[in-house]
Formats: sequence, structure tokens, C-alpha cells
Amino acid sequence: MLAKATMQSSSPRPRLVMKFGGTSVANVERIKNVAQHVKREVEAGYDVAVVVSAMSGKTNELVAWVKEASPLYDQREYDTVVASGEQVTSGLLAICLQAIGLKARSWQGWQMPLRTDTQHGSARIGEIDGSGILKSFAEDGAVAVIAGFQGIEPKTGRIATLGRGGSDTSAVAVAAALKAERCDIYTDVDGVYTTDPRIVPKAKRLDKVAFEEMLEMASLGAKVLQVRSVELAMVHNVRTYVRSSFDNPAQSSPGTLICAEEEIMEQPVVTGIAYSKDEAQITLRQVADKPGVAAAVFEPLADASIVVDMIVQNVSADGKTTDITFTVPSADYARAMDVIEKRKDEIGYELLQGVQDVAKISAIGVGMRSHAGVAAKAFKALADRGINIRAITTSEIKFSVLIDVAYTELAVRTLHSLYGLDAA
Ligand code: ASP
Ligand code: MG
Repeated sequence: MLAKATMQSSSPRPRLVMKFGGTSVANVERIKNVAQHVKREVEAGYDVAVVVSAMSGKTNELVAWVKEASPLYDQREYDTVVASGEQVTSGLLAICLQAIGLKARSWQGWQMPLRTDTQHGSARIGEIDGSGILKSFAEDGAVAVIAGFQGIEPKTGRIATLGRGGSDTSAVAVAAALKAERCDIYTDVDGVYTTDPRIVPKAKRLDKVAFEEMLEMASLGAKVLQVRSVELAMVHNVRTYVRSSFDNPAQSSPGTLICAEEEIMEQPVVTGIAYSKDEAQITLRQVADKPGVAAAVFEPLADASIVVDMIVQNVSADGKTTDITFTVPSADYARAMDVIEKRKDEIGYELLQGVQDVAKISAIGVGMRSHAGVAAKAFKALADRGINIRAITTSEIKFSVLIDVAYTELAVRTLHSLYGLDAA
């Protein structure tokens, strides 16, 4: 009878997931500051699960140690080593929370468990069992401090990590599993901006951005969130905030909400401008204009796990040969050139040209769906400034241009003001 009464009186509190990245937990002092942010939310009435990254620089150090140990290493042992950074911060934060009078315990990926597939080093999440955490919420209201970035591969019982930047994905996945009211991602910036404020000081912080736009921004070079975390938030409709851990914990500002498009009342045509300097351009001259050639070029690249981005193929002038241009990430440039060179006879081209000093500038906005001529305006503005466009791609909610890297800043500024994004 008594037990029943207690159960009834403790109706579940709303749940919140808070995630803190490397710079937010860079040292014990910063971790104490994080504890204050957590305390504020516990006092506001939430059951809180906190997902932490490793201290900034730690994962790089661990990766370097692995490579020093052996250039050809066992991926499972790599995961054992690199997952340790998050174990440290989860324990430290639990201690800091206890020190300010909150109940808290740490959870490693294998303890929840967060189950992954077998792709060690960049594992995907299969499922998260949140029952242990929910039980601990119900029994003693303890804050769950979860080591991000890691899980367990259930078939072998080995530790697996989710790929660099993976604790964002852990956080969103935990929020979905616990049915949290929202997921707050704390970082060293106070939200998502219309573009990189280091390039355009007049960039504005967005109050809201649609999942799809954020997905494009993240894929196109805005490094606020891991792309996979945005995908996951979109699929599970997890309302996700990007906010700053450097704010005063007592008066923290809400940051940027990433949410469903329908939640955004007045949608501008262009929401943001992204850029990436990690691009390289490859051109094959005088390729035979016949069926199967594109496959001969792009299949071996796919087999080598090289992600091809922009592809431009001209209409043949003489009906015999044409040119194919495409871009790959800079990091894959040498490998891609090698793949194409090795297949010269199979593909049949005259000349192979590569350019590494290129950048991709993109404009993103769900408003583009319903507006014509958005990209055309940009081509004109860039031409007026003497910026030559090497390649163009468009999709429903974005367009990208490839230009010489030296013009990156000018192009970003030009498009930012062209679409009315400059702050007054
Ligand atoms: N510590 C991991 C990394 O540096 C995961 C993360 O921070 O999201 O990639
Ligand atoms: Mg990160």
C-alpha cells in the first residue's frame, strides 16, 4: 500500500539530455562549470541525462598513440583506446555533480547498453536500452552521466566507437531512446549562425533552423554538429538546441533550435551560407561519349570509398568525346587520381587534370523550394566581382558553386549580403 502511494506521488518528471563537447570539459574547472549548468536544469524539474565528450585534444592524442603503436592496428583495440577519453570525463563530471549536492552516476556505453553494429571505428547505433537509466531516475533521481562516442558490439561484447565527433550522435540517440523533451548540445559557440562569423562579422545567430537545412549546413562544412546526429534528430524528431557552455550557468541563453520545418513561421529564402575548403577538382578530358563511361569512372571510386560530390559532364560537341569534371574531398585527392590513372585504358580519356586549390560555397534554405531564380542571382553577383565558377550543383534546398580557394571569403560575404542575411 505504502509502496503504491509513493509510486503515485512520483509521477515521472520531464526528461532532458544535455551534451557537452570537448572544449566544455577541457579541464576540471570547466567540468565544474558544466555541473552548474546541469544543476540549473535539475532544479528546473528535469530528470537529466548528460552526454560528455573527451577533454579537448584527448581523442587526437589517443589516436596518435594507437598509430604510433602500429600503423596497421586492430580496429577493436583502437576503439578500446579511444573510448577511454569519454570514460574519464563521465567519471569526473559525476564527481563534480556529487560535490555540489546532486545525485549522479556515470554510465559507459556498454553499461546502458548502447548497442552498435560491427563497424569498429565508425560504428552505427543499433539500439539503446534506456531502462537502467529510467529506473535510476525513478528510484533516486540521479543524474545519468553518459560517456558519449562509445557503445558495445553485442555479438562479441567488444567496445565500439561511433566515429569522430560521435558524441553528438550519442546525445541525440539517447534523447530519442529516453523520449526526452529536448536535447541541448552545449559547445563553444552560442548557436548556429547564418555563416561563419570569423568571415562575416555581420553573421546572425539563427533562432530556429529546420532539420534539413542543418543537415545540409553540417554536410557542407559548418562544423557545429556531426552530420549523423542531425540525421538522427530529423528521423526521430528530437528538438535539438545548440547553445554555449561558456554562458553564465545562471543566465544561459537558449541558442538555436533545430526543429521541424513546420515549427518555423517565417522562412527566409536562404537561411545560411556554408563553405568548404576541403575540396579538390578532377577533370578527365576527351572521354568517349558512349554508354558505360560514367560507370567506368565512378564505380572504382565508389569501390575505393571515395565520396564524389559535384559532377559535371558536358554535352559533346562532336558526338565523339566529352569532358567529365567532379570533386572529391581533399584528403582523398591523391587516391582518386591514382584510381583514375590506373584505369586510363579501361575508361579511355586523353588527359587527366587535377586542381587542389578550390573551395565550395553553398547557399541553403528550405524557402528555395518555392522560389525561382535564387541561384541565378548568385551567379550574377559572383561574376560582378570577377569570381569564376568552375562547377555548379543544385538541389531542392541548396546550390553550391566551386571556385578558386583564394576567393572564398569574398564569395561568402557576397552571397551573405545578397540574400539579406547581414545583421543590421
Ligand atoms: N571525443 C570524440 C572525438 O573527438 C567524440 C566527440 O568529441 O564527439 O571525436
Ligand atoms: Mg564535436
